[in-house]
Amino acid sequence: MKSEHVSESGMSGKPWFMEGSMKPQYRILLVADDQFDKEVILRSFEALPEFQLQWVANLSQARAFLAFATPDVIISDWRLTDGTGIELSRETDSLCPFILMTSFDNEELALNSLKTGVSDYLVKSPGVFKDLPNHIGKVLWEWGHSVVRRQAEQALAERAEHYMLDMSGANDVNWDYVMTLGKFLFSARWIDIIGAADGRTVFTSAELRDLLHPEDRDIFFVELQKCLEGANDLLQLEVRIDLAERGFKWMLVRGKELRDSAGSVIGVGGTLTDITERKQYELKINELAYYDGVTGLPNRTFLYKTLSRIVGKDCVECKGAVFFIDIDNFKMINDAFGHSFGDKVLFKLGRMLSNIDIPGKFLYRLGGDEFVIVAEDLCDAEPTQKIAELILDCFNEPLEIEKNRFYLTASIGVTLYPADGRTPEEILKNVDAAMYTSKANGKNTFTFFDKSIRQSIHKKVEMEANLRMAISREEFCLHYQPQVDLESGDICGFEALIRWNSPKYGMIFPLNFIKLAEKTGLIVPIGYWVLRNACKFAAAVGRKHPGIQIWVNLSNIQLMQTDFVKTVKTIIENAGISPQVMGIEITESMLMESFEDSAHKLGELRNYGLNIALDDFGTGYSSLNYLKKLPINKVKIDKSFIDDISGVGIEKEITSMIIQLAHKIGLQVVGEGVETKEQLEFLKQYQCNLVQGYLIHQPIPEERVEEFLGFFSLNRDEKK
Ligand code: C2E
Ligand code: CA
Ligand code: CA
Repeated sequence: MKSEHVSESGMSGKPWFMEGSMKPQYRILLVADDQFDKEVILRSFEALPEFQLQWVANLSQARAFLAFATPDVIISDWRLTDGTGIELSRETDSLCPFILMTSFDNEELALNSLKTGVSDYLVKSPGVFKDLPNHIGKVLWEWGHSVVRRQAEQALAERAEHYMLDMSGANDVNWDYVMTLGKFLFSARWIDIIGAADGRTVFTSAELRDLLHPEDRDIFFVELQKCLEGANDLLQLEVRIDLAERGFKWMLVRGKELRDSAGSVIGVGGTLTDITERKQYELKINELAYYDGVTGLPNRTFLYKTLSRIVGKDCVECKGAVFFIDIDNFKMINDAFGHSFGDKVLFKLGRMLSNIDIPGKFLYRLGGDEFVIVAEDLCDAEPTQKIAELILDCFNEPLEIEKNRFYLTASIGVTLYPADGRTPEEILKNVDAAMYTSKANGKNTFTFFDKSIRQSIHKKVEMEANLRMAISREEFCLHYQPQVDLESGDICGFEALIRWNSPKYGMIFPLNFIKLAEKTGLIVPIGYWVLRNACKFAAAVGRKHPGIQIWVNLSNIQLMQTDFVKTVKTIIENAGISPQVMGIEITESMLMESFEDSAHKLGELRNYGLNIALDDFGTGYSSLNYLKKLPINKVKIDKSFIDDISGVGIEKEITSMIIQLAHKIGLQVVGEGVETKEQLEFLKQYQCNLVQGYLIHQPIPEERVEEFLGFFSLNRDEKK
């Protein structure tokens, strides 16, 4: 095969379409049997290195060439020695632009040839040959556009078909961005979803930009661009479509790049799913999960998230301060005015605290009357202290709610991170301990977390670890404090009081570990241990002294256990005793959380035959109305009232009134903490049923109770 490469001609200037552009190489296949024509054509491309001309003389040579190479343009004579250019154009089948040359002007031939896929048609003449580079340029440009468009259309058609199969019945909108058109096309479903009155489904980029929520615009176009550049092969994001006064629609946009047969990206296409409902639901859930309903402030979960972020590994440079604000005596507001009023106060407090000007501030409500401020821009103690003072100061203003004016104060704990803590748990534990120190120091003050607080936390942690092992190491024991029946003068019962005989700390009294046991949940196994041992003791005592009752103290954590009633019954049954010889002591505060549930459980136990006493009466709500609703048979008047009997105040009358009213509703009354004869006489005078206190005896170790009982009856017999 003969071929020639033409590189130079006398032509001046570049074809119009190449002006200012880089030099692409265009390979032109020239099929011409006329030597003269060939020479003239080759010459007209001489000065244009952008073009590379391959010449062949006939149809079979052209076929041979095309078997190995793909030109960018084919120029062919209509009449060839072994066939026609039309045949060749059919065979190449849209491979590239095809220009047909004839030596005469034949309109019919021209039209027919164009129908067979020939891109252009020209009548040979020296002038036409000279202009051929320009002409080819034009043909190439048009071809390029038509090909891309055709491919885009084909891709769209394929996609459409695909969607029909894939998404029939689905509510999605199909969309495509066609690069050559610079436009977004949407399927008809778009009109339904958007409610577009004008029925438009085609938008320019600028028009689409306007339709998007301002916050979603940039991200959408950045993602689109990434997809077009092949940096991301999948586009997936959630955007809001702005429907003006009709609000926003949330759309999940999914897309994938569209490629032509050569593999070049020609656009992006995909689906739009209306996720407005889901999104609203999510937002609601998010609100519930991360925001507090009373104050609208971010909640504890949110705070943990923030703290994890700012003290996490990725935030090496992060420094700041955390303030733990606990309102002093807030319970009194709730108690006096009710919870809904208390909520209003909390809302106001939230407002007040958010108005304090603190750099880098985030305010959270932890729950109850606890607020936390994280100040991300603070790191030194001095400015941090100023902020703490500022927070205390804002409580100098009264709060006005429903025409009531209040002055509240707060106890504040302050800690610096990462100096004092490197995890959210650690930070909150420290700042909480610092706040408690403020409370212990008389409230209305702030305390920085420091070494001594750290030590006391360590002590607590250590104590908890020891407490955890105390049951299995058999370090607990029970002491029993006797109760005397004032009418008969007999010992009628004992209250079981726990002691922790720790090898590390020595003898520990319950007030020093019960709170910790409650906080850690250890009170549940400890409480059952107490009940089991008290029942065993009751069985032993009962054999010699029938009718003596053994009373145990209960914590509300125990009462909250779902299987509480069942477990209590099992323990009593296993001890082989009657429930009538056992009693449990509850306090009013225990019942506050879930009165109905607690009262129900206690009712079941009362029906079972167990005795129930209300302990520390007079220190809580002390509503007699309340007493009527509870399934109890005893009331224990708190020691503080007994103490006051010796005084001259009104307390005496209160005590006598409690006794009388309790009797009226059929309850027995126990006077607790009786230390003096005077107190005893007073209680006798008002027909208090039982007394318990140091005057009778201190709590007695289990092994010495028998001895005590023998001694007591002896003593009594002598007195008689
Ligand atoms: P409580 O139920 O009010 O028990 C009475 C407390 O007052 C006992 O202190 C007792 O030793 C003390 N006491 C008795 N008579 C007098 C007196 O005349 N003068 C004075 N000053 N004190 C007197 P204890 O044993 O330290 O118990 C303290 C609290 O610990 C108990 O108060 C009770 O609430 C709790 N507790 C004791 N044992 C248990 C238990 O097994 N489980 C639970 N959950 N709590 C317990
Ligand atoms: Ca008690
Ligand atoms: Ca008590």
